[in-house]
Amino acid sequence: MDINSINIEEIVKKVLDGMQDTSMAVTKTSSKNVTIPKTSRVAMLTGLEQIELKEFPIPEIGDDELLVKVEGCGICGTDAHEYKNDPFGLIPIVLGHEGTGEIVKMGKNITKDSAGKPLNVGDKIVTSMIFRDDPNITMFDLNKQNIGDADVYGLLPDDKTHLNGWFADYIVIRKDSSIFNVSELDLDSRILIEPAAVLIHAVERAKTTGILKFNSRVVVQGCGPIGLLCIAVLRTMGIENIVAVDGVDKRLEFAKEMGATRSVNFKNYKDVKDLANAVADRFDGHLADFAFQCTGSPVAHSNIYKFIRNGGGLCELGFFINGGDATINPHFDLCAKEITLVGSWTYTLRDYATTFDFLKRAKGIGLPLERLISHRYSLDEIDQAFKTNLKMEGLKIAIINE
Ligand SMILES: [Zn+2]
Repeated sequence: MDINSINIEEIVKKVLDGMQDTSMAVTKTSSKNVTIPKTSRVAMLTGLEQIELKEFPIPEIGDDELLVKVEGCGICGTDAHEYKNDPFGLIPIVLGHEGTGEIVKMGKNITKDSAGKPLNVGDKIVTSMIFRDDPNITMFDLNKQNIGDADVYGLLPDDKTHLNGWFADYIVIRKDSSIFNVSELDLDSRILIEPAAVLIHAVERAKTTGILKFNSRVVVQGCGPIGLLCIAVLRTMGIENIVAVDGVDKRLEFAKEMGATRSVNFKNYKDVKDLANAVADRFDGHLADFAFQCTGSPVAHSNIYKFIRNGGGLCELGFFINGGDATINPHFDLCAKEITLVGSWTYTLRDYATTFDFLKRAKGIGLPLERLISHRYSLDEIDQAFKTNLKMEGLKIAIINE
């Protein structure tokens, strides 16, 4: 926020209005000029590669619920899979889980976000998950390894509210959801929180090997949004010697802007031996101490062991969904080299809070994170947005509401 643009009078008025709301009304609403419409549009996936804009009434908000006006939402690989193949059998469904927006109505029981930060009408939020088994789990419960036992907005079966995915004008946030007040982050950063949290988690997993150090030589294979964010996280934590591997020169150029020192286009090498030599060449004759595998390609998984030195480490995070079997030679690739391998999937609630700080620090050191959002579409153009995503032309594609 530009400090000069802050209007003190308006803030004071907002605070006073807020106080009045809490004491007098059952549901807190903004008395600013926010008129909440009676209905909301949602982008509903009604068949394979078929999205229809539908309009549904905005329901009454319960004491433990929030009504949020959606400002934007990124399209995730998971959304694209659902759009194309419906692997989760969720059609009809309102997709979108990388969303953010402004609270316009708030149930009286809600006063704080999941990290304990005060929450008010007008605040900008993101959600992370809704716990299925144990509503009492908080972000500081270390036994909760990842989101395996939770539901996520945008991947919920359709219900009578219909306002349960972020590809919409409004979303109803229900009881026991994980909500974070991220008012201090700009819209682009807020849209990148969910994918960035995946990398914060992956790097935390990588650190458990004890191999990743400030001066480590690190390979990041795959320069889609996940690989690029991986480079940004490593760079932000002070790791400088990073080689990016991908098959598209444009992506490799961007990887360098994001903090990679050197790059390798795998298409220029005839076999994996040649490719491994090229990687070693970029590290002045050394293999990598640690590697992050950020593609969903089985061949890429098989290849990456050849880039790692004896006693090195590997974090595999590219297989967010089942991408098929990969072949390795357990003797040469794992045992004889004594590789330490960790897998990583999704994130914990703690990683979410770390992500907010990462986004601020990455901006602080000048990494061009906002350029990860390569395409912006309105909700009306959502079908086109998904088609662009499937063509793999851009990086992060986002729906931005007016
Ligand atoms: Zn996602």
